[in-house]
Amino acid sequence: MLVATSSISHLRALHCSVCATPYSAFELQRVSACCAAPLVADYDTSEYLPPAAVINAADSSMWRYGALLPLLDERYKVTLGEGFTPIIPLPRLGGGYGLNSLLLKDEGQNPTGSFKARGLSMAVSKALELGVAGCIIPTAGNAGVALAAYCARAGLPATVVMPRHTPDAFKEECYWYGADVELVDGLISDCGARVRQRNANGALLDVSTLKEPYRLEGKKTMGYEIAEQLNWQLPDVLLYPAGGGTGLIGIWKAFREMQALGWLTPDAKLPRMVAVQAENCCPLLETYEGRQANCHAYQGRPTLANGLAVPHPLGEALMLRVLRESNGTVVAISEEDMLAGMRELGQQEGLFVAPEGGAVWMAARRLLASGWLQPHEQILLLNTGSAQKYLDNVIGRSQA
Ligand SMILES: *Cc1c(COP(=O)(O)O)cnc(C)c1O
Ligand SMILES: [Zn+2]
Repeated sequence: MLVATSSISHLRALHCSVCATPYSAFELQRVSACCAAPLVADYDTSEYLPPAAVINAADSSMWRYGALLPLLDERYKVTLGEGFTPIIPLPRLGGGYGLNSLLLKDEGQNPTGSFKARGLSMAVSKALELGVAGCIIPTAGNAGVALAAYCARAGLPATVVMPRHTPDAFKEECYWYGADVELVDGLISDCGARVRQRNANGALLDVSTLKEPYRLEGKKTMGYEIAEQLNWQLPDVLLYPAGGGTGLIGIWKAFREMQALGWLTPDAKLPRMVAVQAENCCPLLETYEGRQANCHAYQGRPTLANGLAVPHPLGEALMLRVLRESNGTVVAISEEDMLAGMRELGQQEGLFVAPEGGAVWMAARRLLASGWLQPHEQILLLNTGSAQKYLDNVIGRSQA
């Protein structure tokens, strides 16, 4: 067992996200034994410390929040400079729609071109600290690339299982990092089944979304950054492209932790959280609107936004909780509209965003038209990736 005494991490325990049974945070954990549900990390927030006493301002990566992350021993940190991405005002685009304050946090500027870098930097660091032999992942693309990069950096073997229809740029980058790549006919859920087969003896850390508690902790740093970068005043509405849901769940977790830490004024309202999905794969929308009890039997189709092609998200209940607690909603966007959103962000703001980012902007437009969003509200779009890797799918479509 690892001892946390000399660690800067305030990590205290893990708990089951369904029944709250506590688990040790100091040994390797996967899902909870009680409910087979995601485990969630808890920190000691009993002592009031101002942000300046906790945040390492000299570190311009997500690791500036290391005290609120689960790595116990700094020597195992595996970093490529992920996080602390800019929040960019979009005055031209927003002004054209009468919006007072439209902002975009550009996660496409992360190492390996997506926000998946945050979660995998965290999980691979923990894999190294806990002494596992290697990592394995089912992926729609970006998570596999990030795992391959961070494992290469850590000197750990990486196994990446992805759909055969994934754009070549994702596969190729994994090859260049030296990962063992297997291609599967189907969606990420089929890749997940293959991962369970290949890792039947549990020798590798399966870093599937929410099947270990560490990626979520890396993703939550987006929430801390949003607060710090906006001077501890959160936006009114936050739109996020939700696939497996770690970003949505993680950002909300960070907001709750900051409330507990006393970093947000007690009466400050938290943002309404909007989950944006693809029409081709929108299990959360179907459950949210009561057309199914849950996502278990949902049939998804491939989408340009391959990060959203997740038909059976393990974190569905946690995502629904975030939507409920924040008075949020779910919107699904068509393939054509994602491209339209990419064109507007490209031509009006010089941003080459992933189809997921295009979808998020189009969701804001839809909610503005329906009156759910008001023009005077501050709106933050999360662009989760760069369009570079999606070229195979979007090439030649810069004009409508
Ligand atoms: C993985 C991914 C998503 C979905 O993220 P979750 O946290 O799993 O919901 C969105 N956009 C991009 C670009 C992705 O790679
Ligand atoms: Zn439980």
